[in-house]
Amino acid sequence: MIGFFEKFSDIIATFSDSTDGNLSFKWSGDNVLANRQTFFNQLELSLPNLVTVQQVHGNKIIKVISKDRGRGSTEKNWLNGYDALITNEKNIILGIETADCLPVFFYDKQNQVIAIAHAGWQGVVKEIIPKLAELMKKDYNTKSDSLHIAIGPHIGKCCFEIKQDILDMFPSKFLQKINNRLYYDLTALVVDQLKTVGVHHKNLEISSVCTSCNHKYYSYRRDKSANQGGQLGIITLI
Ligand SMILES: [Zn+2]
Repeated sequence: MIGFFEKFSDIIATFSDSTDGNLSFKWSGDNVLANRQTFFNQLELSLPNLVTVQQVHGNKIIKVISKDRGRGSTEKNWLNGYDALITNEKNIILGIETADCLPVFFYDKQNQVIAIAHAGWQGVVKEIIPKLAELMKKDYNTKSDSLHIAIGPHIGKCCFEIKQDILDMFPSKFLQKINNRLYYDLTALVVDQLKTVGVHHKNLEISSVCTSCNHKYYSYRRDKSANQGGQLGIITLI
């Protein structure tokens, strides 16, 4: 596992890797519950406080409250129809599951607000990430100076090949052509989106690890139907 926002003492933000085992109920495979229990024990966190969402490659955000705790933590009874979660309550752990998509962690230090988003290319195109930053500003009085964002390991421009059929959906400036194949830099697009909503570059923490290149991570793009699992990203106030 790797941690983010480690200079702050009032938050835990962590992302698993395959040495933690499959932590995603979205992939069949055994031991998800046991692997999650081990992962949470290592972090000294309580698994029943975890909340996850269905993840439908949309851009809907849910405001999580204490009665939601446990949804999607030990079985597939996650909150339906969402790809991002936000809360300002302690004792709630927000989680998303990925295997190439971008896991994006949000932290407003001043107002003690946290959020997390699952963003594949569809979520990125639907602007879920800037939408979440805007929601924090509008509904939680988040100021740019206090908004910290981390992006965990995800598919890099080295491996994210796109075909002509979806090309029109992407701004062309982050497209690269190599040996007649088209590759897209989703990370650069997200950074650009965040800049347009006033997020400071100095407050960004971005993993350069590509989940498809690095075999420490589960990758659907690399392993296709043979993929054995997914990573879990979590964030909580402490
Ligand atoms: Zn790669």
